Amino acid sequence: MIIQLEPSITEAQKKKVYDQVKSYKYKGTFVKTQAGEYLVGIGKSKFDVRKIGHLEGIRDIHIVSDDYKLVSRKWKVNQTVVDLGDGVKIGGGHFALMAGPCSIEGEENILKTIDHLKENNIKIMRGGVYKPRSSPYSFRGLGIEGLKVWYRLAKKAGIKIISEVMQVSQIETMLEYVDIFQIGARNTQNFNLLDELGKVDKPVMIKRGISGTIDELLYSAEYIFSAGNEKILLCERGIRTYERAARNTFDINAIPILKEKTHLPVIADPSHGVGIRDHVEAVALASVVAGADGVIYEVHDKPEEAFSDGQQTLSFNESSTLVRKTRMLLETKSVY
Ligand code: PEP
Ligand code: MN
Repeated sequence: MIIQLEPSITEAQKKKVYDQVKSYKYKGTFVKTQAGEYLVGIGKSKFDVRKIGHLEGIRDIHIVSDDYKLVSRKWKVNQTVVDLGDGVKIGGGHFALMAGPCSIEGEENILKTIDHLKENNIKIMRGGVYKPRSSPYSFRGLGIEGLKVWYRLAKKAGIKIISEVMQVSQIETMLEYVDIFQIGARNTQNFNLLDELGKVDKPVMIKRGISGTIDELLYSAEYIFSAGNEKILLCERGIRTYERAARNTFDINAIPILKEKTHLPVIADPSHGVGIRDHVEAVALASVVAGADGVIYEVHDKPEEAFSDGQQTLSFNESSTLVRKTRMLLETKSVY
């Protein structure tokens, strides 16, 4: 169960609610976020909701049968809207495009990308400065100094930044320079990282684990919410299957399933999802039709020279075409 508490609730009132929940043999956990305060009760026994409902300091009670609670759509029917400020919103009818190189490569690369985004009216730039690479000898990112340069240039251009945080110690230094923290597919179940990102007041986009189930992704989101941060985006980026014709198998099913199960916005990453430049557009458009609240993809002025993931990175021309088709599709989406 989720009990929404009134902002005015007193400590004594809270104790009464907690004791009532405990009397049903439920484990109670208080959760305080940027948006509200909750008591999450975990248990199995049937109980009389009215006995809690009459207590003072309670706004609402919801019975949530899912194992994850706060991220479930069962208690929050309206979709969460993640607000980045300056009119940039994601979810609840606000569709977001996020584009940029796999890795941030330097000032020239940043400036060219920003120009391309501005030409296409894209408000969010992606790029890694800490790169999880399969080989330790591959390019591993420009680090915090690269992020600072990127931030300065992006801010000047009115562009928001999404970038991957790989470990807890990076959160504090990155905080000032990102608009969205990205949790990579290799860290979806890094529970320490999730806990710590629950304590910041910045949106977090969690990518689905390489071999992760949809439920596991939702549990990861529950970690962040229950630690205090409601500003969460979920990202389908393909999973590992027996199929070798593509880098990953983009799970299109995940999009409508997640939209049904959770109130959190769902983003598609067709670049990592298929891993082949020529097919990124098809997968991106399919995910728009499937109901995604946004698409994040890799773009570079010279994809074949990109420091990482060039094989799945769109050229500026291909990117502009994708943007145009996506917007056309969104306009006619009532058909689907
Ligand atoms: C990325 O976005 O460049 C990335 C490394 O993604 P993922 O964690 O999905 O592999
Ligand atoms: Mn990449």
